Amino acid sequence: MIPLILKALHLHDGPMKDVGRRFKKSFDRVWRKRGPHAKETITTYFRQHPGTVYLCFRMDFDNQEPYGRCCYDVGRTALTFSAPYFALASSDALREAVIAHELAHIYRRGYGKWTAETDAEEEATRSLALTWGYESPSLRDQSHKAELDAV
Ligand SMILES: [Zn+2]
Repeated sequence: MIPLILKALHLHDGPMKDVGRRFKKSFDRVWRKRGPHAKETITTYFRQHPGTVYLCFRMDFDNQEPYGRCCYDVGRTALTFSAPYFALASSDALREAVIAHELAHIYRRGYGKWTAETDAEEEATRSLALTWGYESPSLRDQSHKAELDAV
């Protein structure tokens, strides 16, 4: 278990140490670029709902976010990311965009803006991530998904 944000968010990298290191590097870059307000909001949320990041070989179901997703529960949070994506994505920007998108969901939870209405939540989260300088992966060319699906 590798701490990502103080003691409130940990990476459970299991046997995938190389992918775990790559994920942490990308996570740290995204985190360093956030302003104090976003950092405080996200950190406070994780203190109240401690989180674990799981790197999975294959995501358990297809959805709008094939590379990462958040599961919220009372007092805890699970973030799941595709290990093949972090192993094979061709640029730091692609890796960071997935992390930034999920952190944007967490920010919206912490700021009281999150909505259970999936489409509205996705749209607002993509807009927020864009203001942070990240184009959410689901807006990108789908050829990369086909490449990963073939793994
Ligand atoms: Zn999303």
